[in-house]
Amino acid sequence: MRFLITAGPTREPLDDVRFLSNRSTGRMGYEVAAAAVRGGHRAYLVTGPVEIAPPEGIQLARVTTAMEMHRVVMERLEWADALVMAAAVSDFRPRRRIKGKRKKHGGEDEVWVVELVRNPDILASAGKRKGDRVHVGFAVESRDLLANARAKLGSKHADMIVANLVSAFGAERSTAHFLTPEGSPRVFKDRPKGEIADEIVKFCVEWHAERAGKK
Ligand code: C5P
Repeated sequence: MRFLITAGPTREPLDDVRFLSNRSTGRMGYEVAAAAVRGGHRAYLVTGPVEIAPPEGIQLARVTTAMEMHRVVMERLEWADALVMAAAVSDFRPRRRIKGKRKKHGGEDEVWVVELVRNPDILASAGKRKGDRVHVGFAVESRDLLANARAKLGSKHADMIVANLVSAFGAERSTAHFLTPEGSPRVFKDRPKGEIADEIVKFCVEWHAERAGKK
């Protein structure tokens, strides 16, 4: 199968030296890419800026902003049998990027007001052109984990949402809940992310085979 995977944070520039971002390390997405290759599949990884070395045998596209990630994912979408959106895409970006480095203008009471506008929701946009492709998204929440994750299944037209608590950010192990439109959630408690990645790939393979079988 052909896996299109996203990983890492995006960076949203305020000026030429400053940006808004988040604590994602990219580990989960890189693990999914490695798991796909281990399973004998092809992997194309669209990655935000991270510190980890890419696994062997994958194609890589490096992006910085959510808008760039959106463009690359949409261009590659038709190629893929499965889309796994593990990236922590910034929901907002500064309305304008200041040229050069913004200087301090006033005294210590100076306030810099930044207007943020919404970025496109990549998984939701891809969901509108889903066809038979398997779509997997992630939900990282600090509260009401399962209820929030379940809502994303519908709003993003995903086949599965992998729900994690915020504490999973950067960690080697995680407790993941796999939510699908039917049936109760499957829980993988305190497991290495590599094992969770193998389970995600397995889900995609089974789902894809099931779709093909119905045709
Ligand atoms: O809505 P929320 O950001 O919690 O949803 C998380 C899921 O949606 C992740 O799979 C993430 O990669 C994806 N996402 C996206 N585009 C955004 C925000 C999130 O594809 N702008």
